Amino acid sequence: MLRTHTCEELNISNVNQKVTLCGWLQKNRKLGGMLFVDLRDRYGITQLVFNNERNSELCEIAESLGREWVIQATGTVAERYSKNKNITTGDIEIIVDAVTVLNRSEIPPFTIEDESDGGDELRLKYRYLDLRRNPVKNNLIFRHNLSIEIRNYMNGIGFLEIETPFLIKSTPEGARDFLVPSRMNPCEFYALPQSPQTFKQLLMISGYDRYFQIVRCFRDEDLRADRQPEFTQIDCEMSFVEQEDILQTFEGLIKHIFHKVKGIDIESISRITFEDAMRLYGSDKPDTRFGMSFVELNDKLQHRAFSVFNNSELVVGFVAKGCAHYSRKQLDAFTDFVKRPQIGAGGLVYIICNEDSTFKSSVEKFYSQEDLASVAEKCNAFAGDLILIMSGETKKVRKQLCELRLEMGKQLGLCRAGEYKPLWVIDFPLLEWDDETQRFYAKHHPFTAPKPEHLALMDTRPGAVLANAYDLVINGTEIGGGSIRIYSKELQQKMFSVLGLSTEEAHNQFGFLMNAFQYGCPPHGGIAFGFDRLCAILNDSDSIRDFIAFPKNNSGRDPMLDAPATINPAQLKELGISFKN
Ligand code: ASP
Repeated sequence: MLRTHTCEELNISNVNQKVTLCGWLQKNRKLGGMLFVDLRDRYGITQLVFNNERNSELCEIAESLGREWVIQATGTVAERYSKNKNITTGDIEIIVDAVTVLNRSEIPPFTIEDESDGGDELRLKYRYLDLRRNPVKNNLIFRHNLSIEIRNYMNGIGFLEIETPFLIKSTPEGARDFLVPSRMNPCEFYALPQSPQTFKQLLMISGYDRYFQIVRCFRDEDLRADRQPEFTQIDCEMSFVEQEDILQTFEGLIKHIFHKVKGIDIESISRITFEDAMRLYGSDKPDTRFGMSFVELNDKLQHRAFSVFNNSELVVGFVAKGCAHYSRKQLDAFTDFVKRPQIGAGGLVYIICNEDSTFKSSVEKFYSQEDLASVAEKCNAFAGDLILIMSGETKKVRKQLCELRLEMGKQLGLCRAGEYKPLWVIDFPLLEWDDETQRFYAKHHPFTAPKPEHLALMDTRPGAVLANAYDLVINGTEIGGGSIRIYSKELQQKMFSVLGLSTEEAHNQFGFLMNAFQYGCPPHGGIAFGFDRLCAILNDSDSIRDFIAFPKNNSGRDPMLDAPATINPAQLKELGISFKN
């Protein structure tokens, strides 16, 4: 090896040892006749010293070394006079006898420091340099440690990690597929998997009753801060289980992860039904680090003189504890917040619970003090509290109020970093009606089983059918989701027909799975967790990009590779593809 130690290893116990280190030149500084160089590698930093009096030639060479040059230095470990308590090697330095330049470096386009001066795009273009910086490096180390802990846990409870193919067949259900043309089969395409869903179900049929995989998935969706076209899932499936078994097994995984990588012991994971989550928080992924749950107020606020409420499907509000002192200006700012086009509410009504048991409200001319008192009572609001109320079409107004609740939570400092509230959301509806296309879509995916007691409703009221489908939410972010699966051909066919697929279409797209169901398919179910998201949330970050070694930018491009890119006509011809404008 070209080195005897790493740049993090040496300490006072190594004094007088002859050592050789390799690394990148972080910085150098001159102090009188001495030259100090910080040598950096993946592990840390060690100070090298060159003494002009001892060896002026060597000192001169050292002075000529540039930032990020790769060097090898041999010397003797010595105790430092002025120690640096911030780094593990801070008690020592290396008195250098020989230095070799292993490679030079151009001046990097941004500083390789914890706080870099490079913008996002520049850092992506030179991602290999960005990866040298501690914050990014620490994220990747965290990711590695997390994957090891997951594998340890899953292996410990008998799960096998099995790889599934990346070149598969496109299906129109779900998100958009990335396609790969097949040269050997002109005009035919593979698709990259959005998830290994059907394969893991086939593995259950094959008898591998506990499968998992930390696996790349591909979805051609519009990008957001927490989305990447390729991302990683912890994909899992089990046979001979019911929903409860899955929730408990993966509650174990989540507890293990928190314990091992965060040192946090989670007692148990609360559960809420989809219906309650929507009713109480206006979201299927509520942030339950704080309360402010919704109270429905139709019975208290309709049938008075305020026509806006009278004409609304739902009147709903929540209490902001101790916020009665909010100024008119602050309240107006909340109204402006909900009226922004992104939220699109018509307005916001407030009731202030005064210390003297009277009420002040933006709609006080329509309601008596008794009316307002009865709202406060229903909301469990007391003197000093503020009640915020919105109204409209149920689905819409819940969503709008949810945004306001989250904003207030943030403003009141209730979304505390370092606090984690994992939550199971259960009993999702099987289907979701889409007004635009006038058809049902699978809420989770078409392989999710209806609850057995709701089977009969499939024919009469499909929209009311619930599924044994569940999501794991942490602090308002969906971290995982899964379900108990259909395992009979007949039920799967029925599901496809409810989704509007003809028998022939269903057969063409999923015949392989339905056929397989006929060869002894065990009852099974599973779940998949977003691995990148899990990394981000465990570090209180909202960008999954920071935890991916080579991510795409917000337009789905890789600025370093300059991908995607056009390909040359010969390649296209070989693939039998031609573009016409
Ligand atoms: N394959 C599903 C998904 O990617 C997860 C599951 O049902 O296990 O969302």
